[in-house]
Amino acid sequence: MSDSSALSDLSSLTRPELERWFARQGEKPFRGRQVFRWLHARNAASFEEMTDLSRALRARLPELAWLSAPAILEERQAGDGTRKYRFGLRDGLQVEGVYMPEERRRTLCVSTQVGCAQGCRFCATGTMGLTRSLSAGEIAGQLEAVSRRLAAEGLARPVTNVVFMGMGEPLANLEAVAAAVDILLDDFGPKLSRRHVTVSTVGLVPQMEEFVHRVPAKLAVSLNASSDEVRDSIMPVNRRYPLAELMRCCRNLPEQHARVTFEYVLLGGVNDSLADARALVALLAGFPCKINLIPYNPCPGLPYERPEERRVVEFGDLLAERQLSVFVRKSRGVELGAACGQLLTQARRGTPGGCAPRSPRPDEPPSPG
Ligand code: SAH
Ligand code: SF4
Repeated sequence: MSDSSALSDLSSLTRPELERWFARQGEKPFRGRQVFRWLHARNAASFEEMTDLSRALRARLPELAWLSAPAILEERQAGDGTRKYRFGLRDGLQVEGVYMPEERRRTLCVSTQVGCAQGCRFCATGTMGLTRSLSAGEIAGQLEAVSRRLAAEGLARPVTNVVFMGMGEPLANLEAVAAAVDILLDDFGPKLSRRHVTVSTVGLVPQMEEFVHRVPAKLAVSLNASSDEVRDSIMPVNRRYPLAELMRCCRNLPEQHARVTFEYVLLGGVNDSLADARALVALLAGFPCKINLIPYNPCPGLPYERPEERRVVEFGDLLAERQLSVFVRKSRGVELGAACGQLLTQARRGTPGGCAPRSPRPDEPPSPG
């Protein structure tokens, strides 16, 4: 199989696109549906596996097309069932994903870019800069590779929820993310419920407006501060889209996106005071939303600390007392080393893992990797 750019990447096409592609090759469009099902429901990794295509067609496809879906290079499992994956892309680059099984749902956190251009000061991925964006096939393919692996272990429906909270800023790769969501929701593919797919953004306002009109998934916004002063100091994006503009956008979202989830990473001594909590209450006053408080996973080399446990509780209590819907994440898979991005940066420095992905409570919205 070749990845020459002259060939079509069939993993990245939505079902209608794949049907049109087959029609252009002089084949019946339903071949497109068949191949789509092989790739995204049966998790095939090669044309060879597609045994209900004719031998001639299977032999011809590699001359016309390739599959961009990634391969699992490494899997680490923690005592609580959390699994951390390192995926290899066809050009040798790598991204990460985290699988978090719980009683009522099994969530996979996927990456959307190799690195990230947004440069949030506290984030391991932010320190890498952006190498490139992933294709739709590389994004959806993370689910397929993990599902294939877990199915081989006998798990029937191994992944019920997907969160776009791994490496990268999804809305800086909107075309591919929109196609990947279409693939994940397709009845002939993984067939996930739209309520079970969440895309997290750093707060790119114009792309958020486009997203809510185009993409049927849920939106989560990484707020992380309640004043421009603090947000400017930890998230460069805030200089482009300051809080007033971000909140105006969130308050004007169409009905189906009206109840936004805000993520708030608690950084010890930076944004975790009770004054910060009160400012957050004022910022979100009268706005129907959920808040996920995420105690920071410290990353070697970055000057931020995990907040004190007592402070996390007080911060959450203050929000709850003011009638905000708030959830506090607990750590999972601590020994794995990592929220997304942290495993790769640690591997580069030659240090073992030490950061932890998060886990929601059963009634809580999904968590980031
Ligand atoms: N780029 C998107 C999605 C990926 S980051 C975004 O920023 O929303 C997903 C979430 O992980 C974000 O809320 C981010 O603030 C958070 N995060 C990043 N590094 C973290 C760390 N070390 N500890 C805890 N949360 C972290
Ligand atoms: Fe990029 Fe999200 Fe990390 Fe910010 S927090 S650098 S947007 S991945």
